[in-house]
Amino acid sequence: MLVHAGGSTMRIAVIGAGISGIAAGVNLQKVGIEEFTIFEKNPDVGGTWFLNSYPGAACDVDSRLYSYSFHTRKQWGRRYAEQPEILDYLNEVVDRFGLRPKIRTSSDVRSCVYDPSSKQWRIACEDGFEQNFDGVIACVGMLNDPLIPNIPGLDAFTGVATHTARWPKDLDVHGLRAAVVGTGSSAAQIVPAIAPHVHSLHLFQRQPGWVLPKPDKVHAGTVKRPAGPLQKAERCWQYLRRELAHGKYEMGSRRNVRQLRHAVDFLERAVDDPALQEVLKPSYPFGCKRAVRDSNFYPALLRDNVTTVPSALVGVDGSRVIAADGTTVEVDLLVLATGFRAQEFLNTVEVEGPDGRLLSHQWAEAGGPEAFLGVAVPGLPNFFMTYGPNSNTATTSMVFVLERQVEHIVRALAYADRNRLTGLMVRPDAHRRFNQWLQSSISDTVWTAGCNNYFSTQDGKIVTNWPHTSIAYAGLLKAAHPGLPWIYEEFRM
Ligand code: NAP
Repeated sequence: MLVHAGGSTMRIAVIGAGISGIAAGVNLQKVGIEEFTIFEKNPDVGGTWFLNSYPGAACDVDSRLYSYSFHTRKQWGRRYAEQPEILDYLNEVVDRFGLRPKIRTSSDVRSCVYDPSSKQWRIACEDGFEQNFDGVIACVGMLNDPLIPNIPGLDAFTGVATHTARWPKDLDVHGLRAAVVGTGSSAAQIVPAIAPHVHSLHLFQRQPGWVLPKPDKVHAGTVKRPAGPLQKAERCWQYLRRELAHGKYEMGSRRNVRQLRHAVDFLERAVDDPALQEVLKPSYPFGCKRAVRDSNFYPALLRDNVTTVPSALVGVDGSRVIAADGTTVEVDLLVLATGFRAQEFLNTVEVEGPDGRLLSHQWAEAGGPEAFLGVAVPGLPNFFMTYGPNSNTATTSMVFVLERQVEHIVRALAYADRNRLTGLMVRPDAHRRFNQWLQSSISDTVWTAGCNNYFSTQDGKIVTNWPHTSIAYAGLLKAAHPGLPWIYEEFRM
């Protein structure tokens, strides 16, 4: 990308210093936009990898792929890095690209309001800080607002209750009687990590999930130098292998049936108790929920001190936790591995456009959140987001996807800057046509098969996932050049 001759005068607010916020900083610098602030609500960078520090937290995507293309590592400590190594990597990137002075930590952005007179966005933080910006990149993530189930008596639980994404630092689990609620990816990691140390563990399973093995491997050490040609080729192969293995999550496709067989085989090999096998076997197609990838989850469930309760948690009474089937257990530690408010995009920031309309209202009227390629919304000039509606790709590393989104957004902002535009905004008809096509492509996917997943609104509209390959998604982002007048509308003084 080119830096325009006059030097940039544009001032950009980036909300969030997680994977995409950091990538946004690196890419803005690359195009010569130096005037930007990255607002981070936490005391340090890392986003989801700062917050998810529960025992066993790791990534189930190969680290060679779950890392930036502009900052590779010759060798990771293990094939699937654990949370501390990923957080260390993100800090390394922040320092390597000199981003730290641009990051305003402990700054919780509460609102983002467009001022039609200055043609700027007013960012307001919880601590009272306010500042105007010419453009905004919201990098708040999709899995950042914990979903705490509405369970009677939970507030008055007498032991320690915590959501996985709010794990108390220094919590010692040794000898505790624990309950874990949920069987998603977070639960599947925390259960094997704490089971050997706790006195007992009851796992409350509302609906089982499909599980695949994770062929993890510890390496001799971490080599932080950039990847060489061999490692780059391996990264490329990892990417292509995943794309070819998954494709579209089409109901009843040969690929989907093969994945199902793989998951059934794994369950039958890992769990030799037929009664427990029955309890753990989902009755919906593979992929309806995001599959868990963990080789240690099933073995942990076979431990003598672990009991799977095939029922939802419905009540808490003092130190007793109560399941829908009547099972009642007395515990000291209650772990809520209950996921996130994924469908409520940007719900932590109030976004108000030039006409005074809130983005949340706009989305409510549309029957759920929607965006053009997951990054832009009509009516909001120079406002972009990463990991927006329908951009969660089931097939690949989200780092790949977020990098492509950031490249698209920064290219658009640089274009607006270079052409001295006061605003660049996706056209309503381009947005509408895109979303019509998108929703029609989703109708034959396994996500609509009727399981409990976090992909859809209460009315059943899938708002989180991208139905095609990530290659197709990246291609569309690249093709949607900001100068194309049937996609983006330009505003001048
Ligand atoms: P999740 O997949 O949304 O799972 C939440 C779990 O809580 C579900 O099993 C749900 O049951 C259960 N639940 C909710 N209320 C319950 C109740 N009252 N009683 C019993 N169970 C209840 O959340 P997650 O495991 O935190 O994962 C969320 C996402 O984070 C993942 O899909 C993934 O994208 C990301 N993640 C990634 C990794 C990684 O390694 N890359 C690791 C962790 C998380 P139902 O299924 O019945 O709704």
